[in-house]
Amino acid sequence: MFSHQVLVVGGGLAGLRAAIEAHDRGVDVAILSLVHPLRSHSGAAQGGVNAALGNAEEGKDDSPERHAYDTVKGSDFLADQDAVEEMTNDTPERIYEMEHWGCPFSRNPDGTIAQRPFGGGAFPRTCYGSDKTGHYMLHTLYEQTIKRGIRVYAEWTVLSIVVQDDLVNGLVALHMPTGQVEGFTAPAVIMATGGAGRIYSQSTNAIINTGSGIALAYMAGALLKDMEFVQFHPTCLYPTNILITEGARGEGGYLVNNRGERFMKDYAPTAMELAPRDIVSRSIRTEIAQGRAFEDVYVHLDLRHLGQEIILERLPGIRDIAMHFAGVDPVKQPIPVLPAQHYTMGGIGTDSWGQTPLNGLFAAGECACVSVHGANRLGGNSLLETVVFGQRAGVRVSEWVKGNGAANPARVESALGASNQRLEELIAGKGEEDPCLIRQEMGEVMMEKVGIFRHRDEMEEAIAKLRELQQRLAHTRPLYGGKRFNLDLLRTYELGGLLLVAEVIAHGALVREESRGSHSRRDFETRDDQDWMKHTLAHFTPEVPRFSFSPVSITKWQPEARKY
Ligand SMILES: Cc1cc2nc3c(=O)[nH]c(=O)nc-3n(C[C@H](O)[C@H](O)[C@H](O)COP(=O)(O)OP(=O)(O)OC[C@H]3O[C@@H](n4cnc5c(N)ncnc54)[C@H](O)[C@@H]3O)c2cc1C
Repeated sequence: MFSHQVLVVGGGLAGLRAAIEAHDRGVDVAILSLVHPLRSHSGAAQGGVNAALGNAEEGKDDSPERHAYDTVKGSDFLADQDAVEEMTNDTPERIYEMEHWGCPFSRNPDGTIAQRPFGGGAFPRTCYGSDKTGHYMLHTLYEQTIKRGIRVYAEWTVLSIVVQDDLVNGLVALHMPTGQVEGFTAPAVIMATGGAGRIYSQSTNAIINTGSGIALAYMAGALLKDMEFVQFHPTCLYPTNILITEGARGEGGYLVNNRGERFMKDYAPTAMELAPRDIVSRSIRTEIAQGRAFEDVYVHLDLRHLGQEIILERLPGIRDIAMHFAGVDPVKQPIPVLPAQHYTMGGIGTDSWGQTPLNGLFAAGECACVSVHGANRLGGNSLLETVVFGQRAGVRVSEWVKGNGAANPARVESALGASNQRLEELIAGKGEEDPCLIRQEMGEVMMEKVGIFRHRDEMEEAIAKLRELQQRLAHTRPLYGGKRFNLDLLRTYELGGLLLVAEVIAHGALVREESRGSHSRRDFETRDDQDWMKHTLAHFTPEVPRFSFSPVSITKWQPEARKY
């Protein structure tokens, strides 16, 4: 049994930033991560991180307040405005801190951090390091983690959060290289496990972004907020779904249909390609449905007019990806793109300091829902969220553990027994069902029936299918019994939780009878501020999820029609 004051689950940007803060406030903190921290999905972020620094020539009038307004409008007025303002006010400090810790941002000729335009932003506000921003930020924070001697349990998969009587006692985790299952006691846990992209069959997310952390918190009693809001990124490489950053459009790339038209003029005549993602994704999907796509599947992202020099300097990674995975050189040919799942706007409900209603449970980063993204996240606001709310969770958890007693090891011990027993049951297997197929069918039904456009009939079919998959999961085939790096075992272990999260997404989407941001219903086509200006909160029950609602905080900006 290991013991710490605070356990951070996740070694991505949010987890590292939270751990650094807790450590600097004198707390004994440790990080557990399924993969080595540097392999977290944060490292795949390309385009950049938003901050109202006003460094670009056209951005001199930018301000945290303007950043907040753009974020609120981008969210289709569902974001909590007080939380958004706290985020945009904290932002410059967090970005300069990253700079001072050595993050190699791209620069203007005068030495200031360079900023590029991104969708839904009034000014060029997105700070970037070429097209590898997440990689640079992750390395910067990992260096700071190592420098402080913070304990990192790498390649440990968390199997359960131990909660009793609304109080966190620690975790149970499996060490992948040895197969050892261990208990960890701590009075506080910060979940920083990233998004749930892989619940969908077509996603830009890393294979490890399954949503298992969100499921663990849900099953432990945390409330999941606004899970029906799932972001589809407009430009993912056909046919692999690898992300082609919004930075490509930020630098001036065009979207073109099979008639050679820049079709965004019909959907967002002012912002064109730089409209927010929900709008651009729906536009592309409509072009495809109406027969204006290439091979009936994809549209073109054309960068050729930017010229070789700009492409090589600012989008070199994109060029490599297009060449290696689609065989096209963007300097000479347009890139085939289509929308795919990209980001989880909802998540473990927290306040603006990362605290959940469960005593000792905190969350930060993509797995959390504060909410600052509401119904649609603006590109560049997620890297921002990780460092802002990671830091804030670190502050609050430090205060919390100083005022609260130790965890109870006996409870962790009994949870350890339960996890071991579940692993053994899965290894023994009672039936013939293939868990890989169950997972695949989950991804497909979510993609087809709870995707960009939604309708009651389809969502009801999806829910029935998810129920069927739950039942089949009780009859899986025997699994290979070794526990070292036994991914078959781990993926089967987590699948029950993922099906629950998928069900929350589908049920939430069915419950919300309006269209707002990324949630677009064919049977309820307009936004309904009268009845639906509220957050959904899913409560775990052994049957279907139960929903309650919470109000949206409005400080300065009354909802208005969202035009771009
Ligand atoms: C391809 C791509 C490009 C992107 N580009 C941008 C961009 O340019 N700008 C922007 O703002 N946003 C971007 N995003 C979004 C942004 O990168 C993510 O939202 C953000 O990095 C998430 O950080 P995180 O720390 O919350 O989670 P992650 O970086 O996903 O880290 C999750 C961590 O949790 C651990 N973990 C998960 N489950 C378990 C478990 N059960 N047990 C133990 N550990 C676990 C993993 O090991 C990992 O360390 C992009 C996303 C993708 C997929």
